[in-house]
Order: sequence, then C-alpha cells, then structure tokens
Amino acid sequence: MAQRVTYRRRLSYNTKSNRVRIVKTPGGKLTYLHEKKPGSAPRCGDCGSTLSGVPALRPREYARISKRQKTVQRAYGGSRCGKCVRERIVRAFLIEEQKIVKRVIKSQSGKQ
Ligand SMILES: [Zn+2]
Repeated sequence: MAQRVTYRRRLSYNTKSNRVRIVKTPGGKLTYLHEKKPGSAPRCGDCGSTLSGVPALRPREYARISKRQKTVQRAYGGSRCGKCVRERIVRAFLIEEQKIVKRVIKSQSGKQ
C-alpha cells in the first residue's frame, strides 16, 4: 500500500497558497514539498498581451533581479509591447505631419 503523506504546515486546506508536490527523501520516504505560487507575466498596458523579455516572477522576486532583466531597451520597454509602441510612434508622426500640412495650406491661401 502506498505511503500516506501529510502536510508539514498548519494550513490544512487545499488552497492556492498550500500547493504541494510529493518527493522522495534521501531516506526513501515520501513527503510533501510545499511549492511557491507561480508568478504572473507582466502585460502590455495597452493591449494586455504578455511582454516578452521580462520574466514572470512573484512581486518580491523582482527586487532581487537587476533593472536590465525587468525591461527591454526601447521606449516604453517593460511597460508596453513593441507593437503598441510602433503604433504610438506612427500616430505621433502622422499628427505632426498633419500639423505641417495645415500650416502650409494656411500660408498658401494667405498669399492668394
Ligand atoms: Zn501592446
């Protein structure tokens, strides 16, 4: 018959924070190994897709890694995805172009 294994902490309910895995100890006994909650990947603030290049960690674990591991070297890196940044740049460019076009049209109509 399989060996019975019991929780090693006081919390006795099958909750998200009480996840366990059965491991075999060097002495050959089966025991529960308490697992930490998995981290959720950081997401783009505009479209909600997961950001590539930034690891999914628990909040305190981000304090332990260096800045370059939490971002990508781009404007809005580590906050917005590349697709959304491209869209922002194109939008800003078109708005600026439209301003110039308006100014040119205004100056031409002023001459006539
Ligand atoms: Zn995005």
